[in-house]
Amino acid sequence: MNAEIIAIGTELLMGQVINTNASFLSRELSLLGIDVYHQVVVGDNPKRLLEVIQVAEQRSDLVILSGGLGPTKDDITKQVLADHLTKKLILDETTMEKIITFHENRKRTMTDNNRLQAMVIEGSTILKNKTGLAAGMFLKQKSKAFILLPGPPSELEPMFINEVKPLLMGESKEDIHLISRVLRFFDIGESQLAAELDDLIEHQQNPTLATYAGKHEVRLRITANGSTAVACFLLLDNMEAIIQQRIGSYFYGYGEDNRLVNVVADLLKEQKMTLTAAESLTGGAFQSSMTSISGASDYFKGGIVTYSNEIKTAVLGVSKEIIEKSGAVSAECAIEMAKNAQRMFGTNLAIAFTGVAGPNMLENKEVGTVWIGIAVNGKAAFAKEYHLGKGRDNNREKSIMSGLDLIRR
Ligand code: ATP
Ligand code: MG
Repeated sequence: MNAEIIAIGTELLMGQVINTNASFLSRELSLLGIDVYHQVVVGDNPKRLLEVIQVAEQRSDLVILSGGLGPTKDDITKQVLADHLTKKLILDETTMEKIITFHENRKRTMTDNNRLQAMVIEGSTILKNKTGLAAGMFLKQKSKAFILLPGPPSELEPMFINEVKPLLMGESKEDIHLISRVLRFFDIGESQLAAELDDLIEHQQNPTLATYAGKHEVRLRITANGSTAVACFLLLDNMEAIIQQRIGSYFYGYGEDNRLVNVVADLLKEQKMTLTAAESLTGGAFQSSMTSISGASDYFKGGIVTYSNEIKTAVLGVSKEIIEKSGAVSAECAIEMAKNAQRMFGTNLAIAFTGVAGPNMLENKEVGTVWIGIAVNGKAAFAKEYHLGKGRDNNREKSIMSGLDLIRR
């Protein structure tokens, strides 16, 4: 099966919005073994939309349209396609109820436009929209299939994963299982990861590999297909073993939404450990990250921000001698901060951050020099030095992630 993607919206043509829907759909379709031969962008104009639909149905088995399902005048996708296929728009009761409830809950008055949003092309399968109001549609006419998806990526992406993917898998092959596993890596760039796995990516068939760059981290999705789930898991395990052997030192966890902070939280819970933090360069951002998880008080007890040197000595009890001799950005200071915080908060573990975020040098130390200290149960304490880079925000963010990574290890 081959597919064509039509992204509809004048804002896309004008360059005001980047066509991420097309790249998302292409990536997902290729994982399903569906070739995308054409991507088209067209404005909110009925005549030109009709033209591209006519061309698309000539050359493609599956035509996916994104955008223009909303309630405003420029949302024309359904009407144009329905007219072209000589089908009527009919009211979808479920969508209508959802729209009514939405307006009641928010004490808003409904307009005729809103009612229009509940109209769907007759004979189509409705694709549920869990994150918005407009329903998606799937319909077949002769040997061609059409899929209509809403424009906002926050609606299109979950709709594709939850509603379209199962449909397409049913369409393409019977009894085929498709199972994905997401591996997450910290402190390795997407290009370095791709270089390490170059041969695997180049010759990929089953499983397939796809990388996604995040901030300071990379996700790698491995997808296997087979006639049974067990066969898929076997393929995934074999592929993962090869990957772990090459870049396992950067690996920190599984799953689409599993951030480094979640991994640390789970680890602390599992080991029944408690944590505190003393922060200088990160100014409380590490603690903010820890407390972004609900129920964090079980293992994260609280912490302290000691930004100035006076407060480091007066409140946290770092000795003046350390600050004078080694400086605030030093292994000695990081260790002392961690040890004292641990005593102060009575936890098993303490982490401390001190460094030069930039833009200016400090204590004659380069921007990006960071010391992270760890104290464990009043016994061991150590510090690790990092050289992160030039940007202030980057240095602070990367410090937090490096700290989390250090705890995890
Ligand atoms: P709405 O109900 O929000 O009007 P819609 O289905 O009518 O949804 P559009 O009006 O076409 O969709 O687009 C809504 C918004 O979604 C756009 O302003 C844009 O921000 C985003 N969007 C639309 N198409 C794309 C695309 N191809 N890639 C990325 N974002 C898009
Ligand atoms: Mg719209």
